[in-house]
Amino acid sequence: MDWHARSVETTVDQLDTDRDGLDETQAAQRLERYGANRQRPPAHRSAFERLISQFRNLLIYLLLAAAGITAALGHWIDSGVIAAVVLINALIGYIQEGKAESAMAAIRGMLAPEATVRRDGRRQTVDAARVVPGDVLILEPGAKVSADVRLIRTSGLAVDESALTGESVPVDKTHEPVEAGASLGDRRSMAFAGTLVTAGEGDGLVVETGDRTELGQVTEMLSRVETLTTPLLRHLDQLGRQLAVIIVAAGAATAVAGVLLHGFSPVAMFMAAVGLAVAAIPEGLPAIVTITLALGVRRLAGRNAIVRRLPAVETLGAVTVICSDKTGTLTRNEMTVQALLLADGLQTIDPQHSAPQGENARALAEAVALCSDATIASDSAGETRVSGDPMEVALLHLAAAGDVDVEAWRSQHPRVDSIPFDAGHRYMATLHDEGDARWLVVKGAPEAVVPRCDGVLTDAGTAALDEAAWHRRAEELAGRGLRLLAVAERRSDGAALDLHQDSGPDSLVLIGLVGIIDPPRREAIDAVAASQRAGIRIKMITGDHAVTAAAIGRQLGLGDETRGVTGEALEAMDDDEFQRTAAGRSVFARVSPAHKLRLVEALQADGQVVAMTGDGVNDAPALKRADVGVSMGRGGTDAARESSEIVLADDNFATIEAAIHEGRVVYDNIVKSILFILPTNAAQALLLVVAVMAGLVLPVTPVQILWVNMITAVTLALALAFEPAEAAVMERPPRPGDAALIPPGMGMRVGWVALVMLGGTLAVFLGEQAAGRDLAEVRTLTINTLVLFEVWYLFSARRLHASTLNRGGLLGNRYVLGAIAVIVFAQLLFTYAPPMQLLFDTRALGLRDWLLAVFVSLPVVAVVEGHKAWQRRRQRRSADAPQG
Ligand code: ATP
Repeated sequence: MDWHARSVETTVDQLDTDRDGLDETQAAQRLERYGANRQRPPAHRSAFERLISQFRNLLIYLLLAAAGITAALGHWIDSGVIAAVVLINALIGYIQEGKAESAMAAIRGMLAPEATVRRDGRRQTVDAARVVPGDVLILEPGAKVSADVRLIRTSGLAVDESALTGESVPVDKTHEPVEAGASLGDRRSMAFAGTLVTAGEGDGLVVETGDRTELGQVTEMLSRVETLTTPLLRHLDQLGRQLAVIIVAAGAATAVAGVLLHGFSPVAMFMAAVGLAVAAIPEGLPAIVTITLALGVRRLAGRNAIVRRLPAVETLGAVTVICSDKTGTLTRNEMTVQALLLADGLQTIDPQHSAPQGENARALAEAVALCSDATIASDSAGETRVSGDPMEVALLHLAAAGDVDVEAWRSQHPRVDSIPFDAGHRYMATLHDEGDARWLVVKGAPEAVVPRCDGVLTDAGTAALDEAAWHRRAEELAGRGLRLLAVAERRSDGAALDLHQDSGPDSLVLIGLVGIIDPPRREAIDAVAASQRAGIRIKMITGDHAVTAAAIGRQLGLGDETRGVTGEALEAMDDDEFQRTAAGRSVFARVSPAHKLRLVEALQADGQVVAMTGDGVNDAPALKRADVGVSMGRGGTDAARESSEIVLADDNFATIEAAIHEGRVVYDNIVKSILFILPTNAAQALLLVVAVMAGLVLPVTPVQILWVNMITAVTLALALAFEPAEAAVMERPPRPGDAALIPPGMGMRVGWVALVMLGGTLAVFLGEQAAGRDLAEVRTLTINTLVLFEVWYLFSARRLHASTLNRGGLLGNRYVLGAIAVIVFAQLLFTYAPPMQLLFDTRALGLRDWLLAVFVSLPVVAVVEGHKAWQRRRQRRSADAPQG
């Protein structure tokens, strides 16, 4: 359709609507007729494709090749067990990945988009799915356009259409029709679904919704599937490739040595090499990592942090600096006017109980009633309801307390033009019709408004303005943590007042300053303290006054600065000084979004891992640049949300701290799984290597080792994904951003555990064999000893540093207990069930055998706990040692 070429009038007629939009009944009827405004969900990979993708892994190819060759050699049991290992592993991966995908999908559902429309002549926020053709969509900076619209009014409107056209430079929009043949990017009279408003504002008539929008037509864009890959998974992939090489080499060397040195048969040696390979390959690891991350995502959602990109969970655990906005995140965003500073002095007020006093206060109340986008209305019960920006709401309460009937006052002074508030110029101006005169009202940050004033309103009319004196008094108020707003006006009798001259309004008369309190959130104070204990530095970055910001910073425990670093001061710094200031100071005030980006870059250059919050459209670059961009689910814009990794459903700083806590737990659990898998797999493989090299009879058969690997890899290690947080997660410094998968000092533990397991099982095998027992019996005992080693080690692996020899350590994770129950049951079957005895050549064992197995394997706990205790002592010592 060529909506872009039609005039506004034709469009209005054809859609059978008007410029004020539809009414609710019409909207409901149209919703019925046109359907919900939703794009087709992204094409999901089919279940079969997902299953097949589980096999795309080098180590799995290795296993499949081994299965093929063993089958060709007629070793059907071995071949079957290898195939079972591969299949079970793929199935678990498949199920877990499915869970992870649906967890991500459910979480995306929590971010249901909203749209602002005009209906019944009123501005309303509705679920974007309920937008219908004929609706008037109100476009504001940061909003995502939710349907294709023909613009009917624009004021400096610019839209980022990169989602649709790939062109990243915002397009200036107009309401004038354009040529019928214009390409998508040139249809300047239209705004399209999925694009983002970057500046200005406008109204658009909805012409197409759902799949009929331009975005809905571009199907391939929507079929993108969220990939579940993370840097950690890539690291693991790399580890897998290296392991594959080592394993193949070790297997080949062992087999060759067996044949040449000890005269074993080539087929037996090939089978041993296959067993070795299967034993050593950590095939369960990718599934474990995915499920651990997905569990983290779910737990985070329960704590009000919605993860948009999976890798963020991992990065969260490494955050060293949080840069947070003040208003609404660290503070409650519940604003109350507490003081008025007028020419005749300071009035401390409480709008709930006392009215502002005097002529000047009245003038101020009348002015703020007009220069505000908040609305006030009486509901059916006679209650007045005020809605809008919390600060403007506070001002309307002030006006109401001053006996201004806001609604009547507004209709007596209709607004004819306005400059909306913007964090760049920090004021808002409205122009009102007074019959043959015009009345201009401006409110904004004192630094932005006072310099535009020539005079000040006093009881005796306009007097000269002593800027320095006002500045001093303003700072006194700011020092109490009050947010300041200057209110000024200008009246013109008949002469035109141009609001849109480049330099903004001037020649104003200052009416006074308003001091507004916005107390810190209680839980933010606690979260700041907790983060600091966890070695994380907090920086407050705000558009507010430098002295106000510092006062709030002190209340939050951010330090004792009396004045924040201002954006202006930052601008004057060279790169070195900037970087030092960014690292050293904690309150940044009157900062613009461009400074935020520079701050992130400077902190990153200093080696920090930065989480940055943001809500406005201009925050997008800083959010994208930060290691973890955090946006606001309630107060934020769509643009900020789309650029962020994490959305806070409750806009609360404390949630960031909770998210970092979860991120650390997730990372810990992955490390724990790796620390569990590596020595167990190594011991399994080494058992075969050592036996062959020494020319011994194999202590366990290849098919037995396959069995152990199959059941332990997917049960025991997986249980660690569910490990609850350790008590001290937030008492230790963040892990370095480039930390190795295996934390320092842990390599030694892995080595010790592998050696102890190897030594213990070999000793049992050799001892019992020397006693002249039946080989099959001794092998059954050896295998069970190996499994018991792994069971005990699992308990100790639950905690990296703390002891597990206590109630919580032994019983704290019911998944561990469940996995162990499964293993014990499986081993009993393996040992006593006749079909299993046939398959694996096992024999029933007696009580003495079991006692021996426990006796030999249990000491592994002492080894690990001893290593932990030694490490703890060393750490304490180095902490106590004098620095320098
Ligand atoms: P942040 O959310 O970044 O912590 P903030 O909300 O305090 O900071 P801004 O919204 O940029 O920062 O506001 C900066 C200053 O602009 C305020 O201190 C106030 O003086 C002024 N201001 C804020 N909102 C408005 C508004 N709607 N109209 C006029 N002036 C405003």
